[in-house]
Amino acid sequence: MTVIAHPLVQHNLTRLRDQRTQPQEFRRVLSEVAALMLYEATRSFAVRPTSVMTPLARAAGSHLQREVILVPILRAGLGMLDSILQLIPHARVGFIGLKREETTLRATSYHKSLPQRLDRFEVILIDPMLATGGSTVAAMDLLAERGARHVRLVNLVAAPEGIRHVRKFYPKLPIFTAAIDRKLNDRGYIVPGLGDAGDRLFGV
Ligand code: URA
Repeated sequence: MTVIAHPLVQHNLTRLRDQRTQPQEFRRVLSEVAALMLYEATRSFAVRPTSVMTPLARAAGSHLQREVILVPILRAGLGMLDSILQLIPHARVGFIGLKREETTLRATSYHKSLPQRLDRFEVILIDPMLATGGSTVAAMDLLAERGARHVRLVNLVAAPEGIRHVRKFYPKLPIFTAAIDRKLNDRGYIVPGLGDAGDRLFGV
């Protein structure tokens, strides 16, 4: 679990938490924070050494060892997708649609669009809110069915209850977040959190 304490990340997180931040601003700031968090989240990507000729001489370098696929969980994950894609423009993009049942808070899948075989990919699972952990576990189950072996989660705010739940099923999943908040309330919202990330992004 990595909490990214970088001042720019924390500054932006505070603006996202602020209830006065309207969707247009929320979209822009979430996008910015995602790009900042990506540097930390990809620091351990496997690379293979190579060399290239510059106009002057041979230079040692490296390439990413695996292809990259970004998998936002709909809908809030979309808010972090574009800026990450700009930084890794060769990445593929898969989608997982999950919805929480209001009463049980269980996550059920209504959409998935993923390559058949994910074992050769670095998978970046994107979900701004890690609340009960149900969505992360459900998404990880879908990724595991397709053979994913190198997955990391980029998340903005996590609840302790959600982290514990994810750790029960996927103890080794690297999680990169900007904050671990106090708790979940009885409706499954993170407190203090930032409210419903999807609603704040899209205004509905
Ligand atoms: N999803 C959100 O968007 N916000 C929460 O607080 C919990 C789940």
